[in-house]
Amino acid sequence: MTNKQFDYIVVGAGSAGCVMANRLSKNPANNVLVLEAGPLDKTPFIKIPGAFAYFMFSKKYNWGYESESVDDIRSGSPMFCPRGKTLGGSSAVNAMVYIRGHKSDYDHWQALGNEGWNFDELLPYFKNSETNQRGGDEFHGDSGPLYVSDVVNDYKVNDSFLAGAQQAGYPLTNDFNGHQFEGAGYYQFTIKDGERCGVSRAYLKPAMTRTNLQVECEASVQRIIFQGKKAVGVEYIQNGKRHSVYAAQEILICGGTFNSPQTLMLSGIGDKHELASHGIPLVQDLPGVGKNLQEHVDACVLTTSLKKDGFSIGPVGLGKMLPDIVKYIRTKKGKLANSITQVGAFLKSSPDVEVPDIQMHFVPLLFDDNGRDLRLLAGHGYSCHVCVLRPKSRGSVSLRSANPQDPVKIDFNFFSAEEDAKVLVNGIRVARKILATQAFDEYRDEEIHPGADAQSDEEILQKCKDRLGLVYHPVGTCKMGNDAMAVVDNELKVHGVENLRVIDASIMPTLTSGNTNAPTIAIAEKAAKMVLASQGKKVVSQLESVLA
Ligand SMILES: Cc1cc2nc3c(=O)[nH]c(=O)nc-3n(C[C@H](O)[C@H](O)[C@H](O)COP(=O)(O)OP(=O)(O)OC[C@H]3O[C@@H](n4cnc5c(N)ncnc54)[C@H](O)[C@@H]3O)c2cc1C
Repeated sequence: MTNKQFDYIVVGAGSAGCVMANRLSKNPANNVLVLEAGPLDKTPFIKIPGAFAYFMFSKKYNWGYESESVDDIRSGSPMFCPRGKTLGGSSAVNAMVYIRGHKSDYDHWQALGNEGWNFDELLPYFKNSETNQRGGDEFHGDSGPLYVSDVVNDYKVNDSFLAGAQQAGYPLTNDFNGHQFEGAGYYQFTIKDGERCGVSRAYLKPAMTRTNLQVECEASVQRIIFQGKKAVGVEYIQNGKRHSVYAAQEILICGGTFNSPQTLMLSGIGDKHELASHGIPLVQDLPGVGKNLQEHVDACVLTTSLKKDGFSIGPVGLGKMLPDIVKYIRTKKGKLANSITQVGAFLKSSPDVEVPDIQMHFVPLLFDDNGRDLRLLAGHGYSCHVCVLRPKSRGSVSLRSANPQDPVKIDFNFFSAEEDAKVLVNGIRVARKILATQAFDEYRDEEIHPGADAQSDEEILQKCKDRLGLVYHPVGTCKMGNDAMAVVDNELKVHGVENLRVIDASIMPTLTSGNTNAPTIAIAEKAAKMVLASQGKKVVSQLESVLA
């Protein structure tokens, strides 16, 4: 492999990388190499939608990062930050909820100076990527690679959540991605015929028969090779051997919000002082690399249940699971054919808010610490998770050392903006209001968290911090823009250098109001079009110079 030349090198086969691989290799004239640090996505657990928890314990398919610890958050323990590490990236391990966010998220990106990124201009890319089970319409696609399906409700308590929301005075919606974003409803999922439809299945596998696409797994990119300010290749390690490969056109970094800034910094692109402190030679001073980290900070109301018809790994629950396993093996139907998060809501934390500022994920189990709290899981109950949709706090991702094997430092800096605490506490009050309705009377036993004794804002906030969670939606560390802290421009080209783009969730200047897989795929769809268009422009200018 050493010294081989391609047209494009895609670093990372995640939600964005697989889209790029497919769209760029569609033209047989383009030779495309994809380098993925993780192994092949061979395990059957990726296919089984109900096997989400498996990946929270996997070291093979999950980068398993941990944030920097903070004294009063989770009693000073670091927060677990899962990220997919295989073909499909995080879309191979995610909860498959299909959400685009609110129109105003994207209109805001454009208002920040990112021409072409408003909702109306992104909508065609969302639609192109999608085949919705309900068919195509003004909002939905009917012939894209990503299959989006309705849930088959498995748990009666989910209906109580919707009835409770209505009884508490909130609207219902039957399509969060259509006319009515606000309300409570069933989510749609990237699941097809009872199996996960991640980007590997949707985009990469169908393209892998093309002879102009080469995919290398367990190939960990160490740095980008520059000639002056021009990115010309990358260096990676596979099976202990170091390789250098070169790109005639462009290098596309799709490593995700934690790894893309790491790759840039290790290659000499970042804050000059930070790079100097690690002895990394400077290529381009870009102080915004790794800054602007945003995540949906999450807290929950945990209630034990009088009825034992939810999910549990206790003896009763495990006994009930066996027939489901058999049913899934035989028919690809039943509880294992669905995500465990089936209902949710986008609501306003207080009446003066214009656009819903909290999202709820309601689950029929006692769920904390990414499902890793097994004692809790052995009980019977339900959890209403509430997250702050558009947090104001900004964190950072920074290098621990110049060694690419060292995980980055992740500092979320949660609640550095006080408004986030207010929204979260109000959100917990909204959740409690729904859970206190008559719809839950047959289920409600005891609120074990935050617990009846947490009533004041201060008490609720501290309890939220004790079990603080993430919705696994980190974004923003290579933000798009044209201010001093921007990393890429509105064509996702890295400022100050040539032939290098970042294309993944890290480019979002601000976090979208909801789950981030669909937005990342739409970003990549748009980026692919821009990359191909600029190739066309290069050919024209080369022809012009030959003819001149
Ligand atoms: C547990 C979990 C649950 C989630 N649930 C949902 C959900 O239900 N709905 C939703 O919309 N979103 C969900 N998300 C978020 C969503 O999946 C991500 O926002 C999205 O996949 C991010 O895409 P990406 O392309 O930015 O990064 P990723 O998909 O993470 O891809 C990055 C890829 O690059 C590879 N890589 C990184 N560094 C290197 C390197 N140096 N060399 C080679 N390869 C490298 C990685 O291994 C990975 O495959 C969830 C995420 C997680 C982790």
